[in-house]
Amino acid sequence: MNTPKLRLPLVAFATAFLLALAPAAQALPKIKVLATGGTIAGAQASQSDAGYKSGTFSVDDLIAAVPQLKNVAELSGEQTANIGSQTMNHEVWLKLGNRVNEVLAQSDVDGVVITHGTDTMEETAYFLSLVVKSDKPVVLVCAMRPATGISADGPMNLYNGVVLAGSRAAKGRGPLVVINDVIHYARELQKMHTTFLNAFESPNRGVAGVMNTGKVYFYSKNTTRHTTASEFSLDGLTVANLPRVEIVYSYANFDGALIDAAVAGGAKGIVLAGVGDGNTTDAALAALERAAKKGVAVVRCSRTSAGVADRNIEVNDDKLGFIAGMELNAQKARILLMLALTKTSDVKKLQQYFYEY
Ligand code: ASP
Repeated sequence: MNTPKLRLPLVAFATAFLLALAPAAQALPKIKVLATGGTIAGAQASQSDAGYKSGTFSVDDLIAAVPQLKNVAELSGEQTANIGSQTMNHEVWLKLGNRVNEVLAQSDVDGVVITHGTDTMEETAYFLSLVVKSDKPVVLVCAMRPATGISADGPMNLYNGVVLAGSRAAKGRGPLVVINDVIHYARELQKMHTTFLNAFESPNRGVAGVMNTGKVYFYSKNTTRHTTASEFSLDGLTVANLPRVEIVYSYANFDGALIDAAVAGGAKGIVLAGVGDGNTTDAALAALERAAKKGVAVVRCSRTSAGVADRNIEVNDDKLGFIAGMELNAQKARILLMLALTKTSDVKKLQQYFYEY
């Protein structure tokens, strides 16, 4: 028989026993949102107004506009920049990259979401894939329609981005982009349309996966080097010591004068957005050869948006001292070349980077 003295410990024991049996409430992932601006934070004066201003709303406004986020993550927001991504620059990249590394090093952060304009999002995502030193998820989100537009797509993209950044399946894949329910790898995605909601494609290796009713489905692996397997880092990098790399675009009758101008302007690297598999006119090839002879790294890419610009197919790279850009488009090749030139100017080693990243 229970004495009053024994009753209290028994009740405590029974409560502890029942609590242990009860299913533990799932802790929500802790996600940091770093905002940089873009159309996702953009406002237009009226629905009939063709123009709008990127980066009008703050990170707190963006989070407050999607109350459902409270159910899927513990969020905190930070304003890293508030610009249209057409003006994205090395200063913001260094600031953002360093901040992502700092935040992901915290044990109380499970993932990062970056809000960004669509115009240069593929470049920022690829840059981060080379310099972020964590396998925690980093997800970039954007919008094709301003926040005040009819059927704005930003809120759903942000919701998907937060779910994705909090999902275990996103770990170790490098920075991802989710837009219009489709998940892309940083290295693969490219903006292919000026206005459509599905403006992004991953034309070479295909999409990473999809989001469906708030769930994450991955279809493919990322097999190229990134984040924790990348040998590039932000250590010691400044705007001043990032090597200057220019892009020149090829077209019928291109005389190559812009190539000579880039070399005269101090370029340490030149990326050709060439025709077909990274080709150009005889005059431009001669200008590129002159550049290579002066020690400027020359990378050949294709202006076609898809496919491989491989070595020695139509252009004799061995003889001319060029580097084949392989699958990278010119704007991503510029980023890899810039970081690669902080390590070496050896053409063979540079080529190896274009095979691996
Ligand atoms: N110009 C805008 C930007 O990139 C376009 C967008 O976000 O969709 O910031």
